[in-house]
Amino acid sequence: MKRKLASIQSVIAIEPIPNADAIELARIQGWQCVIKKGELRAGDLGVFLEIDSIPPDDPRFTFLWHNKKDVESTERPAAFRLKTVRLRGMLSQGLLLPIQQFPELIRPFVTGTDVTEILGVTKWEPPLPEMEDIAGPFLPGVPKTDEMRVQSVPSVLDELAGRAYVMTLKCDGTSATFGIHQDTGEFTACGRNWSIKRGSNTYWRVAETYHLEKSLQAHPHLAIQGELVGPGIQKNRLGLNCPQFRVFNVYDQQTCCFLGHDEAVAFLNEIKVPMVDVIEEGLSFDHDMESLLALAEGYYPGTQNEREGLVIRPKTEYQSPTLGGRLSFKVISNRFLLKGGD
Ligand code: ATP
Ligand code: MN
Repeated sequence: MKRKLASIQSVIAIEPIPNADAIELARIQGWQCVIKKGELRAGDLGVFLEIDSIPPDDPRFTFLWHNKKDVESTERPAAFRLKTVRLRGMLSQGLLLPIQQFPELIRPFVTGTDVTEILGVTKWEPPLPEMEDIAGPFLPGVPKTDEMRVQSVPSVLDELAGRAYVMTLKCDGTSATFGIHQDTGEFTACGRNWSIKRGSNTYWRVAETYHLEKSLQAHPHLAIQGELVGPGIQKNRLGLNCPQFRVFNVYDQQTCCFLGHDEAVAFLNEIKVPMVDVIEEGLSFDHDMESLLALAEGYYPGTQNEREGLVIRPKTEYQSPTLGGRLSFKVISNRFLLKGGD
């Protein structure tokens, strides 16, 4: 499922903010967002822009960056994006405006409609970690790595309820996929979007460290996907002193399915490649948004660095109607976001 940066959403509830007379709190999907008081009521429709959105440079959004001391310049600053903030002590994520402010949207209004393109909202992307040595396209047939945020798809909680589940630590590094190309038989290393030239880059160094070429030639349909972590990768929040690999997916290129958790563990033990840390597992998932957001917060082991969050899945693969793909989602730590984590 593709992320909807701007969408039509209905207000679940409006709550007062103590000691504030101009603002109040709105709940939409699994998000909470501070709005101007009196603009919206429960049940109303609004246009919701998620964090990481870059709003268009248009009078409806100018108040977001307009500095009252400098009346002349109303232009959007180059680096502007919607971030996680606290306003009067309240966590606020994204921006919610009444739908009446958007005459360009065509009726009937349907909750969930993606209006990112029509409004000219774009996505802020973190700067690329390093110049990747691109060789060509991604391993054909293998899905690229991605996870949806639970607040944007809250019904995944109902889909997971009662199922055996596993939560793993979201490692703040860079995505890597290794596998045998099914047509050429060639061992291939990929980043988030492309295959990477064989050479003295982190991908190939890590492949060597863990003997991935030999292990995967012995299991030519299995591709492994994980996070490269270590010095020089992102901010090395895990505090490691050498590059490491932490696997979160094992994909069977022949059956076109991800291995279930237990099968993946067994395979990774066999080839001696570490998996991402399991933070919690259980036989019957019964968390709600609040308990998950609390669990997401914490430090990476042995550090004082805020962890990015968790990734949560059933132990056996399940097709999610909400996601239109495998049931799997992320819960990003608000403490991490408030401290400026991307
Ligand atoms: P967004 O879609 O929210 O704008 P994004 O597409 O950059 O952001 P990330 O926040 O990087 O996505 O989250 C997805 C990525 O998290 C995956 O592609 C994977 O590389 C990485 N990741 C790290 N740890 C894990 C884990 N334990 N399980 C699954 N994925 C993980
Ligand atoms: Mn994504």
